[in-house]
Amino acid sequence: MSKKRIAILGSTGSIGTQALEVIEANPEIFSVEVLTAQSNADLLIEQAVKFHPREVVIGDEALFDKVSFALSNFPVKVYSGAEALVSVVESEFVDTVLTAMVGYAGMLPTIHAIKAGKDIALANKETLVVAGALIMDLAKEYEVNIYPVDSEHSAIFQCLAGESENTVEKIILTASGGPFLGKDRAFLSSVTKQQALKHPNWTMGAKITIDSATLMNKGLEVIEARWLFDLNVKQIDVIVHPQSIVHSMVQFEDGSIKAQMGLPDMKLPIQYALHYPYRLKSAFARLNFADFPSLTFEKPDMETFRNLAIAYEALEKGGNTACIVNAANEIAVDAFLHDKIGFLEISDIIIESVAKISHIQNPTYSDYVQTNEAARRFASDMIQVKV
Ligand code: NAD
Ligand code: MG
Repeated sequence: MSKKRIAILGSTGSIGTQALEVIEANPEIFSVEVLTAQSNADLLIEQAVKFHPREVVIGDEALFDKVSFALSNFPVKVYSGAEALVSVVESEFVDTVLTAMVGYAGMLPTIHAIKAGKDIALANKETLVVAGALIMDLAKEYEVNIYPVDSEHSAIFQCLAGESENTVEKIILTASGGPFLGKDRAFLSSVTKQQALKHPNWTMGAKITIDSATLMNKGLEVIEARWLFDLNVKQIDVIVHPQSIVHSMVQFEDGSIKAQMGLPDMKLPIQYALHYPYRLKSAFARLNFADFPSLTFEKPDMETFRNLAIAYEALEKGGNTACIVNAANEIAVDAFLHDKIGFLEISDIIIESVAKISHIQNPTYSDYVQTNEAARRFASDMIQVKV
């Protein structure tokens, strides 16, 4: 069997580096053809030396000379800049593109990859949040598969294996609840970024870690699930499960519920997405039920953690609403990470942005681009006024 040739967008991040661990452990199955990163030139160089891809892209153009010089003795082409980040996915030597960059920036490379006929291993959930209808239509048109990397969606996907003849009643996404589970608004009003960045169960990039603390991550995942599995909003439940052992569940029309379980480790969903439909033998730590005598479940508190309610409402409203929510959230999270706003203001900024940016029921690609820009500008202006 020939090797599966992989492009990793965002190879220096949390998902990107774990994907390279999976590939390193399975050199007879995968080869690395393309690596991209925004600004971590040192790690990108190190990865290129180790995995010898054909092409690497460093987003920050100021770092082109550094990367290019360091790799001058290796048979690897070096590019930089926004255009290269997008077009590199079209390489004829790539079968599957892992979208592991963070935020709205993932959308355009994903569109180019789909149009070039590449299968997508999708970690960048923001792409489906912003433009789920457009992306799923394109995937159908170009006959490419989108395999979920997000652990909850991988769990659903694994539960659906062999069930194509059967009707799904609903899915149940599990949420850890994040570091502030059980806290009230008074407590949240003064939490710091250091507290918010301490996730109990997962080590991830800064943006998704804050999203986990606000429950926006679960909100984005509700929207992601709507598109990946073609469900309506009433078919997607969220349950808080602080141990993060049950990664999510599917309930079928006979009432039977299937769950996928394991210790929290993103390498498992990453390798399932990259090598679907096959499972790969792994050395990952195994779940021992005796270590977890109590697995608990509780309702999410959507009054305190408003972002989850905001995401459900965005899905109900449809059109470009989730695009507005995503843009305002990216700006607000960045401001929180720079100590410009408080934790609770993240939701205020998103709610205000949804109220002020024009609603478009059937957005085109350029409508999404404009909505994203307008919502970012509006949210940034709100923050400017506050500081
Ligand atoms: P991260 O911040 O650790 O890494 C982000 C990567 O993207 C880096 O390689 C960075 O260089 C690159 N990048 C940043 N900005 C970019 C831009 N504008 N253009 C191109 N590349 C850019 O993030 P992460 O935690 O690995 O998350 C990546 C994506 O995967 C996110 O969409 C996140 O929601 C999703 N995800 C992550 C996890 C996890 O466990 N970390 C789990 C599920 C889903
Ligand atoms: Mg997840």
